[in-house]
Amino acid sequence: MSKKVKKRILFDIYSNNLLDFKKNLKSDNIVPTEFGLYCPLCTQHYNENRYEELTLEHNPPSSLGGKDNILTCKNCNNSAGSKIDSEILLALNEFDIMGFKPNASIKTQLRNESTGEKGVNAIVSIGSEGGFKINISPANNPVVKDAFLNSFEYEYISGLPLISNFESADLRKKLSFEFRKPNRRNERIASIGLLKIAYLIGFEKLGHAFLFGEHMEVIRSQIKHPEKEIINKPFWIHNNYTDDFLGVNVITKPKELKSFLIVFDLQTKSDSYRVGICIPGYDENDMNIYENIENILCQGEGEVEVEIETNGYLTKEFNIKDKEKSFLPITFWQEIFK
Ligand SMILES: [Zn+2]
Repeated sequence: MSKKVKKRILFDIYSNNLLDFKKNLKSDNIVPTEFGLYCPLCTQHYNENRYEELTLEHNPPSSLGGKDNILTCKNCNNSAGSKIDSEILLALNEFDIMGFKPNASIKTQLRNESTGEKGVNAIVSIGSEGGFKINISPANNPVVKDAFLNSFEYEYISGLPLISNFESADLRKKLSFEFRKPNRRNERIASIGLLKIAYLIGFEKLGHAFLFGEHMEVIRSQIKHPEKEIINKPFWIHNNYTDDFLGVNVITKPKELKSFLIVFDLQTKSDSYRVGICIPGYDENDMNIYENIENILCQGEGEVEVEIETNGYLTKEFNIKDKEKSFLPITFWQEIFK
């Protein structure tokens, strides 16, 4: 399917979703009646006249294996994303290299006694078969670089040779160094990136009933201002999520963790990472979710294992394309928590 066709199909699906949602609302003045949809990030309304301002957005970002299944406005697609997205990629690349995973690579500095604190710039990579490869950048200060390359020691491959056999002994060069984890990355910004991916999946799957959720303005303002500590508690729950969990789940037990649990995969060149992020639901107290995650799951040093029960109805049964069901996520929520 061409991008043009895909964009039109998505526009129609979400516009119909909005029209139906509007019909179900008691108040008339929240959303306009015309055909069109809301950009999930800035919540501006885009009708047919502003169609050209909408773009297909990859969520998760294409660099992390995502597909272009949602529409956002040009402004949001260009500005909100790139910095946050690249921080996630940096963070995951670091996991890859620290786990010596095939195809992982990282820019770093190598240090030993010859280089001092400064080190030499290099790219350390793991081959597809697991071999370790180091490329030392030609842009290094040549004096430091040469000193580094000459800082090897000779070492006998199999024990000390006999005096009589000394000339033909097997020697090899041994170069010792350390490399540090890059500290340029910003974990906080990367975690806001995960929140953004989860939020956009929520909109992709549930439509405007998700976007107009009770607490979504808080989530959006955190995504818009990743440098601010609007939510300063953890919003993820680590677990061994099976494929069944991919998509939008509702945590039903323990009741303190009641929330949308959005599970997705992020793909690097080396590995796939499954992430579970909580987004608050429709009830007044649901914004407590992050405080509760901290209180229940993050006690003492490590993380506490808590058995959670979820309902997968919204992923398995609900379909954004279904006509006249736009309000269902809200009624479903009221039903299971009444
Ligand atoms: Zn926007």
